[in-house]
This record gives sequence, C-alpha cells and structure tokens, in this order.
Amino acid sequence: MTLTHATPMSSATLDDVKRRVTAAIQANRDAIYAVGDAIYADPELGFKEVHTAERVASYFDRLGLSYRTNLGITGVKAVLDTGRPGPSVCIMGELDSIIVFDHPDANPATGAAHCCGHNCQIAGMLAAATGIIESGAIEHLSGKLVFLAVPAEEYVEIDYRSRLKQEGKLEFLGGKSELVALGEFDDVDITIMMHSGSQDRSPAKFTITGTSNGFIGKLIRYSGHPAHAGGAPDKGVNALNAAMVGLMSIHANRETFSDDDSVRVHPIITRGGDLVNVVPSDVRMETYVRGRSMEAVLRAAKKVDRALKAGAVAVGAQVEITTVPGYLPQINDSALNALFKANVLRHFSARDVNEEQHMAGSTDMGDLAHIMPVIQPSMNGSTGTFHGNDYAIADKEISYLWNGILMAETALDLLWGDGHTGTEIAANYDAPMTKEEYLAFMRGISNSEVFGDVEVL
Ligand SMILES: [Zn+2]
Ligand SMILES: [Zn+2]
Repeated sequence: MTLTHATPMSSATLDDVKRRVTAAIQANRDAIYAVGDAIYADPELGFKEVHTAERVASYFDRLGLSYRTNLGITGVKAVLDTGRPGPSVCIMGELDSIIVFDHPDANPATGAAHCCGHNCQIAGMLAAATGIIESGAIEHLSGKLVFLAVPAEEYVEIDYRSRLKQEGKLEFLGGKSELVALGEFDDVDITIMMHSGSQDRSPAKFTITGTSNGFIGKLIRYSGHPAHAGGAPDKGVNALNAAMVGLMSIHANRETFSDDDSVRVHPIITRGGDLVNVVPSDVRMETYVRGRSMEAVLRAAKKVDRALKAGAVAVGAQVEITTVPGYLPQINDSALNALFKANVLRHFSARDVNEEQHMAGSTDMGDLAHIMPVIQPSMNGSTGTFHGNDYAIADKEISYLWNGILMAETALDLLWGDGHTGTEIAANYDAPMTKEEYLAFMRGISNSEVFGDVEVL
C-alpha cells in the first residue's frame, strides 16, 4: 500500500512521534493481547501455520494494510510505502511453534506448543504496525516498511520438509531461506526482529545479542538385514546396533571439538526398529551439527560422517547420510544494536538491558545477516525452559507490547525524514555474501552419500 500526502511533513520532532507511536500501541493493548493469546492457544508447526497466518492477515485487514499470503507456504507480507524514496525496513515475526507433548498448553493431537514464544514475536510485529499506522508517523518517514510473518524458524520435521522439497513445494527447510530464494527480501534493506527471552536467565528486561551458531542438518539411514530376533539373529544385520556404534563414535569425537568453535552435535533416533522380534533393518536418525562459523560446522560434520560410517563398518550395515543446509551463524549489526539500545534507555534504566556476546543456539536470522544488516534482541518476559514443559509467558507487557514499541521506534530512527540513518546503516554494512552467493553456498551444502554394503557373514 502506498500513502500519498497532500500536506508536507509537519514540524513534529522524532521524540514527539515516538511518544505518539508508544501511546497508539498502548491504546491497542487489548487487541494486541488478544492476537498474541489466540496464537499461543493454537500452536502450529513450521510450514503448517495456517490458522496463525489467518490471524495475521485479519489483523492486517483491521489496520487497513494490503498484504500477500502463502509466501513459502504460509508467510504473510504487508508493505507500507511512504511514497518517498528511502530505505526499506522489515519488522518481522515468526509464525511457528515447536513440539513439547507434556507442556500443559500443548495441542493434545500434535504436541505443538508455543514454548519458544514466537506468538510474542507476531504480537510485537503487529503492535509495531499498529503504532506506526495509528499514530500517523508515516507522514514523517521516507522509504518503506515491510511487516512480515515468516514461516518455520524452528528447523524440525526434517523428513517431512524434505518430502515437501521433493514435491517441489519448498527449496529450503527453513522459512527465511525459502523467502530469500523466492525474492521476498529483495525489497528489504534492513530487518529487525525481537525474540522472547527468559527472566530466569537474565535479570534485565531486554538483551542485546551479538553472534550465534550456524548449523547444517543431517538425515541418517542405517540399512541392515531383517531376521528372527530370537530364532536366527545370526542371519540378520542389526541396523540399530550400527546406529548405536555411530552415536558412540560421535561421542568419541567430542573431546576434539575446540571450545572456541562452540560445536554442538545432538542426534536423535526417529525410527529404531519396527517389531521387537525382528532384527531392525531400517533405523533412521536426524542431527544438527552446529558451530560458531561455517568452517567449524563443516569441520565437525566431517568427523560426524566418519563416526556414522564406523557404525556401518562395525556390523556390516549400510549407511546413507543426507546433508541439508541449515542456518548460517547470526551476526547482529552493531549500529542497529546501538539505535535499539538507545530506545530501550528512553523508557528503562541501564540495568534493564544487558548484552550477550555469543549464543550456541541458531536462527535463520543468521541467513539474513549474511546479506543485510539485522538485529534480534530479546524481550525477557517469559519464565521456565525454552523448548521445555515449564515455559510460560510471565509478563505480557514486555512480551507483546514493548517489543512492538522498541521495534517501531528503531524503524522510526531508520526512516525518519529522508531516511538517511537507514540508508547509511545499509550502505556501511559489510555483508559477507550477496543474495546470489548465499543461495549458491546453501545449494552447495546439499549432499547424499551411501557408504558400505549390507553383509551377512
Ligand atoms: Zn526455538
Ligand atoms: Zn525461537
């Protein structure tokens, strides 16, 4: 949607307009809480966030924003064009939940639960849109604002998503990579998102983040030979035993991972055998290999492949290792972080904001960070364990409203007047890759290798 203004920009100051944005968000508290709560109560896994996307779309309708849907299956994107040339700033939230079956608020059928707080992100993104539109701030800005709900940040159900890929419905298994490939970030220069954070972990209300790990994904399939588990195990090749040796061999490599590389390898078995009286002949695993740099990831991945093959060698099984691109390491832009922190300090004291240098988790914000400046600070309004059964939102004001206020104010800084602050930050950012280099790198990671032959001796 493009706004045209008959009147020139009024003389209100940036501070005046920020105050109007804050007031507009606070005045819409009930509607913002309602959408945040509704999404929390109806958690959906990545690329399946149909109801969540509908809620975003109907909220955009309420704001009078035009938008496009079904981007990367479930993404929703609204563009608010000031009609004046300038940079384009994306305020983003993530649509998806995870699975924690024993969380009290999990969907009993799917196990889906918002234990990573992404419902707070969507509430915050919608709050920011509300504040900017209803305050009339847009008349003071140049460039564009993009309000984007992205699918599938959690990199899960690798098997299911790989099938979507085979069916041609996806190229990448994470939402932001997919939207980059689809060109949905071509009209974006800077992206801002805030993630939920835990009060248990940080006494500060907000955390400014530095870097975090990247990773690749692996799908592993051990093939053996079925036989009667009691009567004739000597005629079989036990694929579960091969997987056990593979896992132990990965553990045997852990002491070789350098502390500086922040490597994490955390495999799961997704199929461990079919019938208890049949020697398992089809055993499947998934794992991530994470690290602080992609060099560290790829080095650790070689050791993981070597270890997995050892399992096949030990019992005469075959292993197929399929490597899929995951996420690149996150880099938060220091200039954007400085703007964000100054906005926190407009409302809160210095003890309400802290800084973290490196986190071993991963996010596909890292992929965006390789092609444009981004930040992903956290609003620490949750308690309990992220991805755990005691995760809870303790402070909705921080989780639903203040993220919206702070993202909106930072966007105002970037687009104020002729948008020179945003233009400068985008121009000064030393992006590690172009979009084309990024896509080529990601496509180059995909690989499938079959090792060994099933051998009954
Ligand atoms: Zn998560
Ligand atoms: Zn998350």
